Amino acid sequence: MFKKALSYDDVLLKPMYSDIASRSEVNLTTELSHNIKMSLPVFAAPMDTIMSPTMAAAVFQGGGIGILHRYCTPEDQAQALRESFMLTPFQARPRSVVFAAIGITGDYFKRAELLVEEGCKGLCVDVAHGHHANVIAAVRELKRRFSNVHIMTGNVATIEGFDALADAGADSIRVGVGGGSICSTRIQTGHGIPTFHSILECANSDRDALLIADGGIKNSGDMVKALAAGADAVMVGSMLAGTTEAPGEVIHNMVGGPRKVYRGMASPEAQREWRGKYSSNEGVSRTVPLKGPAGGVLFEIDKGIRSGLSYSGCRTIRELQSKARFIVQTSAGRAESSTHIDL
Ligand code: IMP
Repeated sequence: MFKKALSYDDVLLKPMYSDIASRSEVNLTTELSHNIKMSLPVFAAPMDTIMSPTMAAAVFQGGGIGILHRYCTPEDQAQALRESFMLTPFQARPRSVVFAAIGITGDYFKRAELLVEEGCKGLCVDVAHGHHANVIAAVRELKRRFSNVHIMTGNVATIEGFDALADAGADSIRVGVGGGSICSTRIQTGHGIPTFHSILECANSDRDALLIADGGIKNSGDMVKALAAGADAVMVGSMLAGTTEAPGEVIHNMVGGPRKVYRGMASPEAQREWRGKYSSNEGVSRTVPLKGPAGGVLFEIDKGIRSGLSYSGCRTIRELQSKARFIVQTSAGRAESSTHIDL
């Protein structure tokens, strides 16, 4: 029969015995390959309404890593990298990290060379369907050429996809197909797997690649669930959309206050702008309310994840992954789990 696959909202973590007196006892440090460390395991998605040099700086300051998007010329992307490094938290810290996205066709290899020459420590092979012969070939080639650079790739939804990319040499793999807030892949193509299920499945891999939960994360609670299910880090778009650092004009005269555009990179709007046409339509463009500085959002995320670990009585993400216990909640449980004073 058909297999059931659960989403973040279908599950909750059981509160467990804890002797953690303060959130500061929780250590969220995540080590990537090549000695790159994150003190908050959060990546900012390589999207044109999320990533900018100022976003890279804000995310780095918050303990995470931003990935500069690839929807520009290689020279403009290299310039964005240089601009990021000029900003203050980066100047103060010599081991500062910004990642950059590349594709798998055209100038991708030259782009990669240029970005690495400029000091990029991680490349993200940014493809919607990562379990693909061309992605595997590109990762293999990149790994051979840039042995000192962290190679992230994806996206996959299954353990077969995860293992194939890990075997090609990927250091980290984005897991999640069709779950993004601005994604219409499941509607347009009928394909995808609830991301929570994909994480559980890919976490069973015996390969060394790190697992990045990507798409559909709405709050720090979803992050704790993703980490407990086996993710080493998470990637977010919508949670950072509408922040001061997110690129895009502020749209005034809207009911409910000023807003900014947040759009999928496979939306007709984004494709028309970057390619002059669109082929497949797998994303939407929306406006979201302004949120203030990204630092504030990341601060809340940090506090939420730390609290989450303390409810499971765990001081590290590894400990959480071995101790955490999930339960499946009913629709009545889901209603009770969200604030409902105003219903
Ligand atoms: P969010 O955090 O739920 O907003 O999802 C962000 C993620 O959606 C990104 O990291 C990508 O994996 C994915 N994504 C970005 N653009 C598109 C699109 O146009 N269609 C489908 N998925 C997308």
